[in-house]
This record gives sequence, structure tokens and C-alpha cells, in this order.
Amino acid sequence: MTDNMNAIATRLAAVRRRIREAQDDARRPADSVTLLAVSKTFPADAVRACAAAGQSRFGENYVQEALAKIAAVADPNLEWHFIGPLQSNKTRPVAENFHWAHTIDRLKIAQRLNEQRPAHLPPLQVCIQVNTSGEASKSGIGFDALPALAAAVRGMPRLRLRGLMTIPAPSDDAAAQRAPFRALREAFERFNAEGYGLDTLSMGMSDDLEAAVAEGATLVRVGSALFGARDYGQLDKP
Ligand SMILES: *Cc1c(COP(=O)(O)O)cnc(C)c1O
Repeated sequence: MTDNMNAIATRLAAVRRRIREAQDDARRPADSVTLLAVSKTFPADAVRACAAAGQSRFGENYVQEALAKIAAVADPNLEWHFIGPLQSNKTRPVAENFHWAHTIDRLKIAQRLNEQRPAHLPPLQVCIQVNTSGEASKSGIGFDALPALAAAVRGMPRLRLRGLMTIPAPSDDAAAQRAPFRALREAFERFNAEGYGLDTLSMGMSDDLEAAVAEGATLVRVGSALFGARDYGQLDKP
């Protein structure tokens, strides 16, 4: 094992411990929170090291970077989640290469993914991204327009609507961190009261996963706490 592989295995254990403690503090059942390892900007070797330490779900933000990495890692046991901004001209590679997409925030994107999901693959598992921070964030659909989009996505045969996702404006204050997560969970519960059968609340990152788990996150997306600080210098950002 190289030093870097050891470092990733150690950090993975520490993140798993944080999740478990947050889950226990919230009196939630064991294993009710899934870890998504966000590997954007990190090389295929980092994914391999993390996978060797037992992690199977990985999140990527940039389509070109992700396609190269998915091909390089070439591990059929891994599950790839697209968590970056979705533009219309990038939907096809997402529909063809990922298991999940978390960032659906308008009808046109959902329609394209539904049309482009290859017939030989199972439906694409999707979350709708919600803007829980109002003007402080540009990505995600507002709560007012969310029900219509959810109803439309639910009816698309090549997509399976699994839940809701958010990236709130960052905050150091624990109560301020929890408010947007609570609002998302309440929306999730309203859908399920209407029979949607959603099972995924994708919320919480390295700096706010405890707040998210306290408010019911079922999947946390963690990058820097696992892989270290990101260097965007080498990347062609969209
Ligand atoms: C980069 C990213 C993450 C991980 O952020 P960290 O703060 O490094 O844990 C999670 N979710 C999304 C959508 C991201 O773009």
C-alpha cells in the first residue's frame, strides 16, 4: 500500500465514524445514511484506493473528467453518480454512463435524460435538485415549482425518481446549516404522504454532514474530507 492509499483508507474510516456518530445522535437506525465519495478533480488512482478500502459509490461533477475516470477505473462494481450542473448538451453522456443523476432542476433536462437513457440499461436513478437558499444560490428549482417537476419526472419511464438533493449556501452556524435541510426533508415527507415512495435525501457535504444527518439525510456527498483539498488548476471547468 502506498502512503496515499493509506491516507484515503484512514480518512474513509474517519468519515464513516462521523456519519455513524451523527446517526446515533439523531437516534436514527444503523446504516440509514449512505456515503457518496465525491472524487471530482482526483485521479483514477484515488478512486481505486477508496474502492479498495471498501467504498463503492462515487460522485463526479464534470462530464469529460468523469468519462475518462470511469473508463480508466473500469470497475463494474462501482456506482457512479452525476452531481454537477446539468446542461442540455451534456445530458447524453450522463444518460449513457452514470447510474444516478442528482441535479435535475428543469423539465427539459429530465426529458432529454429520459429519451437518451439506453434501453439496455435500467432506468436512470434521479434526484431533483432544490434551491433551499433562495437568492443565495442559482442552482436548483424553487419549492413553488417543485411539485410540477416531480409529477412530470415521476411519469418518465426511463427515469426513476428517488428523491431530492440540495446544496445550501455554506454557513458555520449549526442552526443556520439545519434550516435548509429541514425544509428539504419536509418537502420529501409531503411527497411521500402523496404516495411518491421517495427514499433518498441527498444532502450534506464535508463541512455540514452532521447537520444534514440530524435532519434526515439518507445520502451524504463527501469529497475533501476523504480525498483532501481540491486543486482545480488542471481541470477544464465547464
Ligand atoms: C464537490 C461537491 C461535494 C463535496 O464537497 P466537499 O465539501 O468536498 O465534501 C458535494 N456535493 C456536490 C454537489 C459537490 O459539487
